[in-house]
Amino acid sequence: SVAVTVQQPARSAPAKEVASCSGRQTYHDDMAKVLFTEAAISNRVAELGRQIAQDYHGKAPLVLGVLKGSFMFFSDLVRAIEPCPRGLTLDFIRASSYGSGTESTGEVKLKTDLKREKVEGRHVLLVEDIVDTALTITTVSRYLLEECGATSVATATLLDKHERRKLSYRPEYVGFVCPNEFVVGYGLDFDEEYRTLPYIGVLKPECYSHLGI
Ligand code: 5GP
Repeated sequence: SVAVTVQQPARSAPAKEVASCSGRQTYHDDMAKVLFTEAAISNRVAELGRQIAQDYHGKAPLVLGVLKGSFMFFSDLVRAIEPCPRGLTLDFIRASSYGSGTESTGEVKLKTDLKREKVEGRHVLLVEDIVDTALTITTVSRYLLEECGATSVATATLLDKHERRKLSYRPEYVGFVCPNEFVVGYGLDFDEEYRTLPYIGVLKPECYSHLGI
């Protein structure tokens, strides 16, 4: 027999009000513009993958996805790391800095069951969806180097919104430089929605109007 333990929050969150999107039936209808198409992302991910394969040849890297936003980029990128260096392994770390809406709370929470022995002495490649203020990536990277004994930590981010940096940080691998706009799609959400879009774009202002922002 198998024992299953389900952990649930003490009190469940109140049911979310679905934004009234009159006339807009699908996520595509909510987009004001597409910034990076599916084809552009796919080409860039292939280039990044080849570069990473070369740079990590012989280094048995630990590729660490920063959840949740990076899930789509992560799964495309790891398949593009060709030829794949021996000893490459994968894992995840959960980081959250956004409450709800589009503004960061400024506080980064990490959730992980990564054991020190999995990280110690390894070359870690963090995979992020977007580096914005750089608070998240700096916190994760410090944790890996200082608490877990990683030999090196580098970052592959799909998007770099460098105009909004609060801490100076230059990711080693950048898919695209992102304009100073709130973007969704290809893993990135707004209030948990829009993650499944295969491209990256900007929402119509009326999609935020129910929040009063
Ligand atoms: P940072 O700590 O660098 O300010 O922010 C990193 C995290 O904030 C990202 O992993 C992402 O989850 C979120 N974030 C920053 N900018 C955007 C954006 O334009 N759109 C979305 N959906 N999330 C963002």
